[in-house]
Amino acid sequence: MKKDILSLLPEELEEELAGLGEPRYRARQIFRWLSRGVRDFEEMSDQPKALRQKLQENYTLYRPKVLTKQVSRLDGTVKYLWELADGNAVETVVMSYKHGNTVCISSQVGCRQGCAFCASTIGGLVRGLEPSEMLDEVLFSQLDSGKPISNIVLMGIGEPLDNYDNVLRFLRLVNRPEGMNIGMRHISLSTCGLTERFEQLAEENLQLTLSVSLHAPDDETRSALMPANRGRGVEQLMDSCRRYYEKTGRRISFEYAMIDGVNDTPYHARLLAQRVRGLGAHVNLIPLNHVEERQFKPSTPEHMRQFIRILEDEKVNVTVRRKLGGDIDASCGQLRRRREQ
Ligand code: SAH
Repeated sequence: MKKDILSLLPEELEEELAGLGEPRYRARQIFRWLSRGVRDFEEMSDQPKALRQKLQENYTLYRPKVLTKQVSRLDGTVKYLWELADGNAVETVVMSYKHGNTVCISSQVGCRQGCAFCASTIGGLVRGLEPSEMLDEVLFSQLDSGKPISNIVLMGIGEPLDNYDNVLRFLRLVNRPEGMNIGMRHISLSTCGLTERFEQLAEENLQLTLSVSLHAPDDETRSALMPANRGRGVEQLMDSCRRYYEKTGRRISFEYAMIDGVNDTPYHARLLAQRVRGLGAHVNLIPLNHVEERQFKPSTPEHMRQFIRILEDEKVNVTVRRKLGGDIDASCGQLRRRREQ
């Protein structure tokens, strides 16, 4: 079985090369080629021919293909549909902000969380992405768009904590100074609240930002919207968040999609304020984005204002997420593993 060379950390690559009877310093050179997007061992011109041959025999290397590329006329947001080695396809979005470019990557092919308002879960989960595939989403989005990436959000298709080991390995790879060198403080990981992983994540001691998709402060509403809430519950979620915050000192960001008549009443706002108290938390409201298969509607501007006013009166740090890529279905909850032709 050939190994996926791009998912190996430089020190693991060193071990591999030693095992092949090659000098260890070659690992660094090869890692650099890979980090620059070289996806053919023959192009590694400083490597001896015999070694290139050995690499070819022992490792897989694949370049994701752009199936579609869409550019928003409204704000320049770019959306890619990448074809992976096994024929599956996932989407990646590049957004430009004043402070730099952010790439929003997928962590799984599909999703099994079943949130009632999200397009990514339609059709269920196929598989988790390999570390190399997530890395290539970042790298080739940067190379193709010509936009240097400074920030990464794991907010595309999939539930990152449902693909924990691969996501952690990806984070370590993309963070390497000799690789893409993206600082952990420039990375946000969003979860629907798989609390059984929070403690483990806290122990990794990463400086990334944890975003929690809350969307409702009470179990009745949240369980109806998000199956992941069933058997866990909001109280357990908030306890896990509190422990995460205490252990890491990193403030959690809560995402809250505003859905007309479902989770946007003054009752929800007051309970939400109560839930996040003492967490130094940030609440990011997302006016619900349209998903064809779903019936939900975004909250009215009046209800949004009222909701924000209540949170502000309760001294909650609240912002409204700017919608980007609205004309190309590139906004939160609109990404899909494959476009129906
Ligand atoms: N599975 C992870 C990562 C997805 S991030 C998670 O649940 O956090 C995508 C974000 O967009 C999540 O907060 C998700 O709940 C939100 N979202 C999904 N569908 C949406 C929609 N139609 N409108 C607005 N936000 C949506």
